[in-house]
Order: sequence, then structure tokens, then C-alpha cells
Amino acid sequence: MTILDIHDIPAQRRADVLGQVPTGLLIGSWRPAEHGETFPVHDPATGAELLQIADGTTADALAALDAAADAGPAWAATSPRERSEVLRRAYEALTARTDDLALLITLEMGKPLDESRTEVSYAADFVRWYAEEAVRLDGRHTASPDGGSRIITSPQPVGPCLLITPWNFPLAMGTRKIAPALAAGCTVVLKPAALTPLTSLLMAQILLDAGVPEGVLNVITTTNPGTVSAPLMADARLRKVSFTGSTAVGQRLVEQSASQLVRTSMELGGNAPLIIFDDADLERAVKGAVIAKLRNGGQSCVAANRILVQEGIADEFVARFQQAMAAVEVGPGTQPGVAVGPLIDDRAVKKCSELVTDAVVRGAKLVAGGDPLPMPGHFYPPTVLDHVPAGARILDEEIFGPVAPIVRFGPEAEAVALANATPFGLAAYVFTENLDRALRVSDALETGMVGINQGIVSNVAAPFGGVKHSGLGREGGHEGIEEYLETKYLAVNKS
Ligand code: NAD
Repeated sequence: MTILDIHDIPAQRRADVLGQVPTGLLIGSWRPAEHGETFPVHDPATGAELLQIADGTTADALAALDAAADAGPAWAATSPRERSEVLRRAYEALTARTDDLALLITLEMGKPLDESRTEVSYAADFVRWYAEEAVRLDGRHTASPDGGSRIITSPQPVGPCLLITPWNFPLAMGTRKIAPALAAGCTVVLKPAALTPLTSLLMAQILLDAGVPEGVLNVITTTNPGTVSAPLMADARLRKVSFTGSTAVGQRLVEQSASQLVRTSMELGGNAPLIIFDDADLERAVKGAVIAKLRNGGQSCVAANRILVQEGIADEFVARFQQAMAAVEVGPGTQPGVAVGPLIDDRAVKKCSELVTDAVVRGAKLVAGGDPLPMPGHFYPPTVLDHVPAGARILDEEIFGPVAPIVRFGPEAEAVALANATPFGLAAYVFTENLDRALRVSDALETGMVGINQGIVSNVAAPFGGVKHSGLGREGGHEGIEEYLETKYLAVNKS
């Protein structure tokens, strides 16, 4: 493969950042994989190899669980304040390294540097939030109905956890799990995605430097995730799995959780409807739709997957939205002014092309984009399809790219029926100036989250998660730490 250098960042700066990334497995301390195998990590903007890192095996994964299980009792016995202060130092250390982490995210995942900086801040904020939550855990003290005994409950850490994360937010998907787990007193084995493991490796070193004790955080990178996760799921010492990724893999993990009754949190795929009513503020709706569609290049589980527009406003919305989408600059994430970087790989580009072709063959009208860009790397332009008919694959599948299919609707009930006509139920967006309608439609939507007059729903203080095939459990907010806690009940005789 020809390695093209199209980055605006000096080669020495890139080499310096890559040079800080530990390339081994974190099993208590850093070490190579069992047989010394490694695998390459590539830059999606150029195809260039960035680094070779350790390719973990089943034995490595079990050694990581040994380390997590051994460190468990001592970490659970630390005071909440001690855990809080370790996390607070980790937050400060991550924030101080924003530039390095952001460049690494852009190099291995592709998103524009500004978005990577926003991800670092969002990711670090989970660590700050759970540093604060660590000292706010409480239980109940009450009397039994007959007055004969006291009921006391206390939160307990669930125990060693397996955390599996996807490639699209290489830092935030990790800290969203690690921070509440550590705050709760759990130890963890993190398995980041093979496409973007470098950010997790540097993050792990930063956390160790901030005082996370040996064995509390372990990291296994691998090209063979099944051979790492299956034996851990079958091991009685593992008490929890928290997974973010595709619904198919999540379903497999839930099946595997049955043998040891491992607790599960599943953040899975989405098919978010973005609904614009006739009474919406058009400018807000266009802005919100562009953000909900193009943030992370469309590679987000909460990305607007279907844009549903009421007939009275549709022509004007399409005209302005299509203009806004076409004006967006696409290119390497290190180039100033670029708002959409490369897709993660060739498969992603091919999927966008196939979904657009299928929709056009079925009668959709292509109003912007649509042609793959004649440049190296995995680029696809912001694309808008109008009048997408029922049955088009693009309305049923997760696009994970910058393509916006528009469907027009008549009455409000039709919008709700269209929005709910999917097995997924993660996020939805509603644009209307009518508060009654906003609340009525939000109630009727079968999703875990609804953005009202805004195209972003994530916030560290809010419970992020879905219903139906989008998963089980919540991350962020107070709810996020509950996923790592058991409730112990003490029955105390009242004499
Ligand atoms: P993926 O399911 O292919 O991979 C996710 C993780 O699971 C990776 O670490 C991968 O190595 C691992 N994995 C793959 N096969 C496995 C197996 N058999 N056993 C154990 N682990 C396995 O998903 P992806 O392509 O990395 O990510 C995209 C998906 O993630 C999309 O569907 C997206 O909607 C979803 N996602 C959801 C959220 C959310 O919060 N709901 C957030 C981000 C991404």
C-alpha cells in the first residue's frame, strides 16, 4: 500500500505522541502477549500503519482476570474518599494531556481534531463526575412493616468487570465504564476495539500515573475478541460485563452471561428518528439535523438515521438542509476547517454506497453528495436522499456514515408510527415549538432518550441508554454507578 502523508501535523509531533503509547498488555503491569504476537493499527485517513501492539490470547485474558480478582478486595476496602481522589487526579491528568489524546484519537479513528478535543473533555468529565459520585453512595435505614426489625441496605461493588468498547469514541466509551466501576470499588479488564486501541493504552498509563493501583485496571488488546471474552464470561470470578457495540455481539454476550449469571449492561446499536414538525423553528431544525447527522462523521449510535419531516415544512427544510450538508468540508481530521473526517474503513464506505444505491433504485431522490470522493483513505461525502420509500434498506439498517434519508409524513400519529417501526430504541429527536406536542410525542417514542429541539443528547450527568434492541442499563448520571453495585440488605432485630 502506498503510504500518503496528508496530515497537517508535523511528522515529529505524530512520532512523539505515538512514542508515548505503551504497546503491551496491562496485566497488573505492562507485558507482551503470551507468544509475543502483535498486530498493526492503521490511520483511516491514509491507510498508513501507526503502531504494532500486543495481540492478547485466552491465557492473557485469564491472567488479566487473575490480576483484577487479586486486586479486588483491597480496592473495595479503600475508603470512598480515597477512590474519589484517585479519580480526581486521573481527571486532571487526562485533561492536562488533551492535546496528546486528541491527536491520537484523530490518528487512529479519523474524526476532526476539534471533535477529538471535545471527546477528551467529555471522556475526562465522566472521571470527574464519578470522582464526585464515589462519596455520595448511600443505602436505606427503615423499619419493617410490623415494626419488629430494622432494614438496612448498603451498596457493595459487584466485583471484577469485563468492559468491552467500540472504535467510534475510543476514549469516552472507556471512561464512561471505567470511572463508575472504579468509583464503586470494582476492578476491571478493559478490552478496547482492535481498530482504535492506542487511545485506551495511553489513557491506561495516565490512570496508572495518577495513582490507580496495580491490578485495578487491566487492558487486553486483541484481534480475536471472542477468544478473550468467552473464557472470561465462563469464569465464576467475573461478576459483570459492560459492553458497547453492535446488537449482534451484545446478544451473544447476554447468552454467554447465562452460565455464571454475570450481570450485563448493553449499549447497542440505534436507528434514531429525527422528527421535524411544521411548527418547528426551521433554523434550529436544520442546525440540529446537521449535528445529529454529521457528528463523528455519522458514526455514532445516536446519529440521526432517519429524518422525518412534516409535509408543510418539507420543501423548505430539504432546500436548506441540503445546502448545509453540501457546504461541509470533508478531509483528514488533522486539516483545519475539516468537519467530516474519513470513515473507519473500506467496509463502511461500501455500506454507505450500497444503502444509497438501494434507496435510489427504489425511487429515492439524491439531492446532495452520493459519489465516493476521489482521494486516498476511506472518505464518503455528506449525502442527502429525499422521498425515501418504505422498504429501502437505509431506513432499517444503522448507516454509520454521513448519509441522511428523508421521509415526509402527514399527521403527528404517522410520525410516531414511522419512528417506532424499528427494533431499535436508543435516541430520537423532536423539533417543534409546541411544548404539549414535544412532551406528547416524547412519551410515545419507544426510545431511551429524546432530544427536544437539539441534535445532541449525551451528557455525563444524564442516563444514556436504550430500550428494545438498543440495550439494557444506563451509563452516566447517578444511574451509571448503579450498574456496578449490588444492594446488600441487613436484617437487624429490634428488641
Ligand atoms: P462491534 O460489536 O463489532 O465491536 C464492539 C466491541 O466488541 C469491540 O471491542 C470488538 O472487538 C468486540 N467484539 C466483537 N466481536 C466480539 C465477540 N464475539 N465477543 C466479544 N467481543 C467482541 O461494534 P463496533 O463496530 O466496534 O461499533 C459500532 C456499534 O457500536 C454500532 O452498532 C453502534 O451503534 C454501537 N455503539 C453503541 C453505543 C451506545 O452507547 N449504545 C455507543 C457507541 C457505539
